[in-house]
Amino acid sequence: MALYHSPLYLDALSQLESAAAAMSADPNIVERLKYPKRAIQVSIPIRLDDGSVKTFEGYRVQHNMTLGPGKGGIRFHPHVDLSETTALAMLMTFKCALVGLPLGGAKGGVKVNPNDLSRQELQALTRRYAMEIGPFVGPDKDIPAPDIGTDRQTMAWFMDTYSQIHGYASHGVVTGKPISVGGSLGREAATGKGVAYCINFAYDKMDKQIDHKTTVAIHGFGKVGMPAAVDLAEQGAKIVAVSDYTCALYQEEGLNVLDIIEFVKERNNLDQYERAGVKKITNEELLQLEVDVLIPAAIDSVITDKNMKNVRAKMIAEGANGPLTKEAVSYLTNQGVFIIPDILCNAGGVIVSYFEWVQGLAHFFWDEDQINKTLHRILKNAFDEVVVKADHYDIDMKKAAMCAALAKLEAAMKLRGLFPG
Ligand code: NAD
Repeated sequence: MALYHSPLYLDALSQLESAAAAMSADPNIVERLKYPKRAIQVSIPIRLDDGSVKTFEGYRVQHNMTLGPGKGGIRFHPHVDLSETTALAMLMTFKCALVGLPLGGAKGGVKVNPNDLSRQELQALTRRYAMEIGPFVGPDKDIPAPDIGTDRQTMAWFMDTYSQIHGYASHGVVTGKPISVGGSLGREAATGKGVAYCINFAYDKMDKQIDHKTTVAIHGFGKVGMPAAVDLAEQGAKIVAVSDYTCALYQEEGLNVLDIIEFVKERNNLDQYERAGVKKITNEELLQLEVDVLIPAAIDSVITDKNMKNVRAKMIAEGANGPLTKEAVSYLTNQGVFIIPDILCNAGGVIVSYFEWVQGLAHFFWDEDQINKTLHRILKNAFDEVVVKADHYDIDMKKAAMCAALAKLEAAMKLRGLFPG
């Protein structure tokens, strides 16, 4: 069935099942968590600049809403499909539960390459998509956010469309909005910052410190990779490699991260970046660098059984969702690589999205210091909980994160019961 075929869905399912086995979870709860609550498919016809009409395929999947309204990004990418969206919604359920947010798991997307559309076409696509999924989203139902191929402008269009339909400015319908329309300070950098916090927690656990000898490679220099690079570079780490879909840049002494960010802002990608001492390598070569920390922060399934034996990083911080397949996690864990699992490592984004939602509902906004301190506290608690679960069941961090999340979901689902009984 279309919902259940993708490698990412099968991987998420197998993570759920193996965590359930490790902690002897209630099989009736696990059975319910295998399937999404609701999967919506919509057609999105828009008029292109040349006057013709083209129809795109869109989805919104709500996996589980036991803990609260759905929460999850909207992806604009040519590979988006119902099964991948379902898997990502499922991961959101576990991520929100793990870090203790009163939110469920959801995800959405449109099968499109946003780079092929003009700004006007993108706006039309976003607004029609927002209208089509409109009956199923809202501050109390399901709150989208940016993901690959979408950004704060997309969220502003989405918020405006929803607000026009309802007749008032709805700050709570999406997060990741620009500050001027109800966005939160700290949201843009939150996921990357959270990745950097988690790497620090892992270093603390090993009684080590990040310093000028710490080498870092980042696969995917986007909304997650960039702020992670900035934060770690500020702590003195050497960012020796970064990449995007066009190529990877490498410099043994450490790249000038801020200069590269400025370049990407102007030119959109790394392809034309030329500086003395900076070499071009391939994305695959980046993944194989001998570094202290590798941050896969682009897309899923980049380290698989095909290339896992070539990975030489000591620690892997999963910035992206599902960048390692289960075979890769198991092999690399056995090799002694410390893996910070995605549902913990990249949870900074949803945590500050939660702050944005709360601020939007209260119409009262926090300062950045309060946001970063609260983000740090929530992530630290979650990291410690995962370590406790890993020790308790004698399992790896990836499985332990799922166990910590599943324990919370199991408790809440049992208390709420199964409707109608
Ligand atoms: P983005 O679109 O801003 O950046 C993605 C980066 O990866 C870009 O540099 C792009 O060029 C690069 N890339 C894409 N395909 C690639 C490929 N095949 N090989 C190498 N590089 C490639 O996206 P993002 O928001 O940074 O998201 C990245 C990942 O992090 C996704 O898995 C997303 O689901 C996850 N994530 C994002 C957030 C968030 O707040 N943005 C939160 C949690 C998880």
